[in-house]
Amino acid sequence: MVSRQEILAWCDNALQTAQFKDYAPNGLQVEGKEKIATIATSVTASLAAIEFAAEQQADILLVHHGLFWKSEPVTITGWKKARIEALLRHQINLVGYHLPLDAHPEWGNNAQLAAVLGLQTDNRCGEQNLFNTGRLKTPQTLAQFSDGIEAALERRPTVVGNPDRLITTAAWCTGGAQGFFQQAVDAGVDAYITGEISEAQYHLANESGTAFISAGHHATERYGVRALGEALKQAFAVEVIHFDEANPA
Ligand SMILES: [Zn+2]
Repeated sequence: MVSRQEILAWCDNALQTAQFKDYAPNGLQVEGKEKIATIATSVTASLAAIEFAAEQQADILLVHHGLFWKSEPVTITGWKKARIEALLRHQINLVGYHLPLDAHPEWGNNAQLAAVLGLQTDNRCGEQNLFNTGRLKTPQTLAQFSDGIEAALERRPTVVGNPDRLITTAAWCTGGAQGFFQQAVDAGVDAYITGEISEAQYHLANESGTAFISAGHHATERYGVRALGEALKQAFAVEVIHFDEANPA
């Protein structure tokens, strides 16, 4: 068995956690057992994920979306109380990596999404290197590219743009990164892919000619935490099990 501290130190070093300014704490969020044999991974520390970790007798629940965000009240009531109570009752460590896990060049959500969608990364730039630009391995029409995304992510994306337009270059950032769309327009790429869409992006896509593809927050961020889990399995003698939810958002 490996100690919790060894796992945390390894993750912090591998993900360069100290380099990031984040609005969530990275690393240990809720303390559980000290010795680790089994790690459960999940995009979000939902009650369903915590219950799964408890059933599997996991010692760590490793997530991308933890329990504490700067924008939220600091009180522990209602649904948050229930989640924390379940973690404490089962002595499960809750470990979360947010922006460092979006940005990691190999296991990160952005890198993993590129691999899943057949995108070649040319550049990682912008705010904390979260904005990626690159190209499709094979240029396709927007309609074909959208169908490919649906098949790969098992979720129909919301797409704004001319379906016959040939897509050669793209920019992307997983999750709720619709705010980076202007950067994609400025970069001159054919399409921008992220997890969510807001009202304004519809008009900007129509008026700029840059296609906007909202492929799901959960769907685009499913791969980073899995890749980190697999890397931990290689690095330590631990069992790693994945939990996925059919989150439509
Ligand atoms: Zn996210």
